[in-house]
Parts: sequence; C-alpha cells; structure tokens
Amino acid sequence: MAKPHVLVIPYPAQGHVIPILELAQCLVTKGVKVTFINTEVNHSLVTGNCLDKDGFGDLMQMVSLPDGIESSEDRSDIRKLNLSMLQTMPRKLEELIEKINKEDSSKVSCVIADDSMAWAIQVAKKMGISSAAFWPASVATLASILSFQKMIDDGIINKKGIPLSSEMIRLSETMPPIKPQNLAWACLEDTATIEVFFQVAIQAEEASRLTEWFICNSCPELEAAAFSLYPQLLPIGPLLARNRLADQAGHFWQEDSTCLAWLDQQPPRSVIYVAFGSFTIFNQTQFEELALGLELSNRPFLWVVRPGMTKETTTDYPDGYTERIGSRGRIVSWAPQQKVLSHPSVACIISHCGWNSILEGVANGVPFLCLPYFGDQFHNETYICDIWKTGMGLEKDEAGIVTRGEIKSKVEKLLSEKTFRVKALYIKEKVTSSVSKGGCSHKNLNNFIEWIQQNDTNAKDQPDSIET
Ligand code: UDP
Repeated sequence: MAKPHVLVIPYPAQGHVIPILELAQCLVTKGVKVTFINTEVNHSLVTGNCLDKDGFGDLMQMVSLPDGIESSEDRSDIRKLNLSMLQTMPRKLEELIEKINKEDSSKVSCVIADDSMAWAIQVAKKMGISSAAFWPASVATLASILSFQKMIDDGIINKKGIPLSSEMIRLSETMPPIKPQNLAWACLEDTATIEVFFQVAIQAEEASRLTEWFICNSCPELEAAAFSLYPQLLPIGPLLARNRLADQAGHFWQEDSTCLAWLDQQPPRSVIYVAFGSFTIFNQTQFEELALGLELSNRPFLWVVRPGMTKETTTDYPDGYTERIGSRGRIVSWAPQQKVLSHPSVACIISHCGWNSILEGVANGVPFLCLPYFGDQFHNETYICDIWKTGMGLEKDEAGIVTRGEIKSKVEKLLSEKTFRVKALYIKEKVTSSVSKGGCSHKNLNNFIEWIQQNDTNAKDQPDSIET
C-alpha cells in the first residue's frame, strides 16, 4: 500500500549523517517510508558498520549517489568535495527521483536535506516536491550563517566571508559574542576553503527560504536566544537513539562495544571519556601530551584514538605508555559514544566540542573539558563554559600545546568542584523534558511527521493509507 515517501539527504560527514539518520528512523517508526541517500563511499561505510542484522527495517532503503570523485581518491580536501558534489549530484538526484516515481508504489512526497546540501532543496523545488531543511549543528551557528548579509553590510566580513576585524560580534543582546575568526566558515585552514564554505553558507541561507520547514537538532532549553532571533527555526532535538530506546547508527567506523564491559568494571563516575569526533587531527606533540596528561590524572580513562588521528602514519604512544597504563586506560578506535556517555561510570568528557558530542554529553549530565579543533567548535565551547557553565576550556601554552600539566589540573578541578556536575544535571533535566511527551522538541517533531503524513501526495487517491 502506498505510504508517504521521504528522501533524506545528509551532508557527507559523520557528524551530519548520525543525527539525520536518527530523524529518518523516527519517521520510519511512524510508518513513513524513507529512502536515505548517502554518497557512495559513505553508503558502504554506514551499511557495512550497521550492527543490526535486520538492517534499517523494511520501510528504510539505503541508497547512494556518486559525489563525482573517484572512489580511490582522497576526500579530505573538503573544498574539492563540495565543488564536485555540486557539479555531479543534482542531476543524479533528479534521475533517482524520476526512477522512484516510475517504479516505486510510493512516489516521493517530500525531500529532507541537510541545509548544507542546498542543491537538493533546489532540485525538490524544481520538481514540485515539498521539502524541509535540516540543521544538525547549533542554532547559534545557523543564526550566524543566516546573518551573513548583515555582517557584510556592517563591514565585519568581506563578500567572500573573510573577517575584516577582530572585534566581537553580537547577533543579539542575549547571545554570547563571537570572534569573527570563530565564525563557522572562517575557522578553516586556508582562504580558498573559507571561500568555498562561505558559498555553501550563502546557498544554505537561500535554500532555507525555499522549504516548508526548517528543523534543527537543538532545543530552546539550550539556545533560547538563538531560536528567538529566527522564529522560523523549529527545534526537534536532541535527536538521540535512546529517545526511541534504540542504538545509535550511521557510524563510518566499526564501534568497539567491548569498552562497555570495561566501563561496567569501573567505579561510578570515575572514568574520563576522551573523544574528538571524526575530523580532529593532532600533531605528535599534542597527542603525546594528551596521553601523558591522562596518565598523570591517575584515573581510569576511555580514549578514542581514531585511525588517522595524528599527522603521522602510525600513532606513536610515549615509550612504555601502554604497559604503564595497563587496564586503567582503555583505548579504542571508535566507541558506541551515546551508550558510553550514558554509562554511570563516566565522570566527564574531554571533547573537541562537536555539536553532536555536546548534545550527547548534555543529555546525560556529563561535564566537559573543551579542546575545540575547527569550524563551529570554538563557539560551541562558549556555550559550555560561559552560558551553561557545565565545563571548562583547556588552555594552550605559548607553543600552542595543551600540556599534560594543564590536562591533569583541569581534570582535578572539573571533578572536584561540584558545581559543574550540578549544572550539568540541571541542563540534562531541561533537555530531557524537551524531547519527552509534552516538551517543545517532542511536539515539533510530531507536528512535522503529521505534516508529512497529511501532505502525502500518494494518499490523495488512497486516504486510508496513512498510518499514525
Ligand atoms: N562518535 C562515536 N564514536 C566515537 C566518536 C564519535 O559514535 O568514538 C559519534 C558521536 O557520538 C557523534 C559523532 O560521532 O554523534 C561526532 O559528531 P560531532 O558533531 O561530535 O563531531 P564531528 O565528528 O562532526 O567533528
């Protein structure tokens, strides 16, 4: 029987795929058919690392489109990737929609795309299909993107997005100020990359005006001021697998679940969880200082050392390190992070402040030590340290390194001063209430799904095909 059929399109990065796949799974649980479109490379990673033997269920089809880069080529040049996607993917998406509409019992009734994939929203518009933009990061970051024209007019950035001064920007009286150099697109490695990402931001702003809905993985309990600045942005987050009593999916690396049994053996609130998301790369000096700082902390730690996390080809620990650490430290290449953060043994997280990691920590009342790496992470840190006051930043020395001593002393301070945990538990309650029945994010998500069901072009001929 025909059902509402939604195409879901993430931006091809780990921190974008996980939350939008969670949204897709929420749709499936309400009887909506989903075709989830990854790039070819990410499709094989996500389906290959899916631990559930039943895959994603009958209502979810995982498909792929080429991103225009040869499969053997390096995709770490994000400038090249963005340009290539823009050249290749819109036509491929159109062809896919035509094929589905010809062959599938349910025609495409809605496209939900990451707002950084503005071209997908334009394809939907061109083909007369309803659409929604999804924003996986903080609404404060989105607010800065939506305000780009005002920043140009005010002489804060030039037309290519390059900051012209270092004076702090205030988007509103009640939002924390941002350093122009910390604007999400400006905090990248070189001018050419900044310019490409600024174009993506401009296209995202334009696309956001074409969609019926603009849904965001956040909640007003975390960012009330940013939401009030742009009332068209609807909170539906934090989108976490546990809201559905399910496991997090969409990993690019195989998760090592054995660390959960190790966590079971540690005392309550004793473990330092250390994870820097999917992009952060350390130089060898910083990597070693981190290792030695964890050793000096004299506490159990669970550390995610992703393949390729250091600039060197192999990851070198300090001499004799793993022997000295023994079973006090557990090192894995990828953790089931949402489960780890909800484990009672975890005391705190040392994090790069990626938005998903923040939501996952916040939703579990976990205090943070912050070591941002790039993009929006520096502004995200401000929320932890200055607004919610659930953590502290790790300070770099004159050589730009966070030393072992700094790590040791900040861990001690974070875990000995009760205020961080008290504040973290307070925010946890507020965030949990937003995604619980009657909460703001819960209501918005349900309204959105109802809208998908009511606007189902397939149902026009078969009114009783809608499942609620
Ligand atoms: N993650 C994970 N296992 C790990 C490290 C990270 O499952 O060992 C997940 C984490 O739960 C989060 C995502 O990867 O959902 C990382 O997103 P985030 O926004 O924190 O950082 P990014 O990778 O975008 O820098």
